[in-house]
Amino acid sequence: MSDGRFSGRAAIVTGGARGIGAATAERLAREGASVLLVDRDEAVSDRARALDCHPLRIDVAETGAGERIVEEALRNFGRLDILVNNAGISGSRPLRDCDDELLDLIIGTNLTAVLRVTRAALPHLPRPGGRIINVASVFGLAGYPGSTPYAVAKAGVAQLTRQLAADLAPEGIAVNGVAPGLIETAMTADRLHNDRYYQRAMLEPTPMRRAGRPEEVAAVIAFLASSDASFVTGEVVAVDGGWLSGRHPPRDPS
Ligand code: NDP
Repeated sequence: MSDGRFSGRAAIVTGGARGIGAATAERLAREGASVLLVDRDEAVSDRARALDCHPLRIDVAETGAGERIVEEALRNFGRLDILVNNAGISGSRPLRDCDDELLDLIIGTNLTAVLRVTRAALPHLPRPGGRIINVASVFGLAGYPGSTPYAVAKAGVAQLTRQLAADLAPEGIAVNGVAPGLIETAMTADRLHNDRYYQRAMLEPTPMRRAGRPEEVAAVIAFLASSDASFVTGEVVAVDGGWLSGRHPPRDPS
């Protein structure tokens, strides 16, 4: 497609083999962008083919990954306009139960890799017109028990968004984020269906009374990447069915 909102623009989407990243790549590509789909999972090749994107299989947390990802985008597309930092892992536990290895893995993947990929992209983004969209989490904006390292990493992503927005606005680069609430993906499916505590803490207090779909996050990311958001920067938009703004205990069905 060549006449969409992102016609002539090139994007990187990390963690794009499935879930929110795949939905985002699909949306950007459908609206005309050339998309580099980045993931460590071998499924990235099939997914990229299905979405008419270019695949790159790499772990975003490994040393030098940021440079390799950006080089691959420039080699294929000759430009880079939009960076979507989406790759992330859960697996967090209460801090007292996290050894050094787990702390490094969660912070390294969810925060340090975002800093590194962003640093590699910065020299190449157009001024004006460059866009960075970071996928944070409602857990990085409000306290949630038992998930400290993940939440701290996501709070870092949210602050990185505000910080970089202030740095880069004078140059014409906008930096925004989304904070998904409960979205049904491979990351959450097991807890959503089998973990009663998670259901009581996340699903039932969501005013909209359902989990979100990856496409609903992708739509907000696409808005933030588009010229429709031309006067928006430094924002982290909750996409959470109202979970952050007002928690509602379930009503008695009677
Ligand atoms: P999924 O687990 O469904 O998809 C994430 C994708 O990213 C997977 O393909 C995964 O590969 C890949 N990935 C993970 N780590 C790396 C890495 N180091 N290098 C390259 N690829 C990697 O997750 P979601 O779509 O649910 O989540 C996407 C983002 O949204 C994450 O940052 C997550 O923290 C955030 N988020 C999600 C919420 C939800 O409810 N789903 C809520 C709030 C935030 P692999 O299969 O190998 O792990």
